[in-house]
Amino acid sequence: MIIETKYGVGDRVTAIRELKKEKWETCDCCDGNKIINIKGFGVGCPQCGGRGLITDFEEKKWTIDRRGEIDTVQVAVTYQDKKAITYFLGKKDYFTCQTRYESKDIFKDKKTALKECAKRNGESNG
Ligand SMILES: [Zn+2]
Repeated sequence: MIIETKYGVGDRVTAIRELKKEKWETCDCCDGNKIINIKGFGVGCPQCGGRGLITDFEEKKWTIDRRGEIDTVQVAVTYQDKKAITYFLGKKDYFTCQTRYESKDIFKDKKTALKECAKRNGESNG
């Protein structure tokens, strides 16, 4: 079996990532009371898990995550010959925790990456 990957080890690429901003809201099931009343019994709210708050993502935005060299290409062939190709960018500093990207989020240059970010942000904003 021959599997071609879009990029190879040592290729310098730009990776993009979707940043999500969390938003907390009062649970509309228990009104923030953490428990609901069923026939006189207080029961932990199933909607918020007894926190009184529910979380949602108020904003999603594609942005350039980092530029770097691919140090590992991982190919997984699964059921029905589906291929999952994952690229790992070398860890350059302590604060960079994400090193793993799917091929759809990797681009050969910054310009193409920015264009794709704009496209995805435009689509997600309606
Ligand atoms: Zn609740």
